[in-house]
Amino acid sequence: MDENAREKAESLCPGAKCVLVCAVPYYAGDAPGNLSLYARGRDYHLVLGDLLNPICEVLHEKYPAHRFVPGVDNSPLPEREAAWAAGIGLRGEHGLVIVPPYGSWVFLGTILTDHPAPPPDRAPSPPCIRCGKCQKVCPGGALRGETFDPERCLSHLTQKKGELPPEQEALLAAHTLAWGCDLCQRVCPYNAHPKATELSTFRDDLVENLTADMVEGVTNRQFKERYGDRAFAWRGLAVIRRNLALQTSKN
Ligand code: SF4
Ligand code: SF4
Repeated sequence: MDENAREKAESLCPGAKCVLVCAVPYYAGDAPGNLSLYARGRDYHLVLGDLLNPICEVLHEKYPAHRFVPGVDNSPLPEREAAWAAGIGLRGEHGLVIVPPYGSWVFLGTILTDHPAPPPDRAPSPPCIRCGKCQKVCPGGALRGETFDPERCLSHLTQKKGELPPEQEALLAAHTLAWGCDLCQRVCPYNAHPKATELSTFRDDLVENLTADMVEGVTNRQFKERYGDRAFAWRGLAVIRRNLALQTSKN
């Protein structure tokens, strides 16, 4: 963990000694659509918050002298590194945690604590089979060896606010999704036949697709009312409109 992350962790949980990590599967089938699979169900920040908060309360009741701080994405912790250090799943070459039989379709949640929990009783996660398919399929060339360039990752670009440089616009215009990019996960052999999630909140009431009609003439407030509990809404309406407009511009 770098110094900056260490400082943030310290401010969240003074004297932090340990991080607990969980992986929560979300795969719910692969219906056609232009939203990344992770963004189709209820926002995982909300879902994992609902899962982790009561766990933290129970832990605090059991160990009242200690703090237990839940985190989902907003944590300063390098969650994937923490998962691998805890021996969860495999280290994917695409930088994601792979948890057979769920594949890489998992969200990570953490609990930071000053409780001196014992170290994990398993070895750190081994690497994947390194077939190289994820790197080959990446349209932006974001995955190169051990490095990852977010400015060439379409998933990152679909979330970036404002006007994009022409090169990034062209990448998005050639893309098929309005939010996210699952390409490196789709080709991964560990994701060939993933087990579906048991959590109904990731299976029910899915939004698979957005069209220009669905966001045309809609105010920011209406967009938030309709989709405020979806991960694709967190960057706001303008970003979704831009992504859809770029895709329309290629037709
Ligand atoms: S999400 Fe898409 S663009 Fe980003 S690394 Fe994977 S394949 Fe490349
Ligand atoms: S596609 Fe191949 S190299 Fe990439 S994460 Fe999956 S197994 Fe590893």
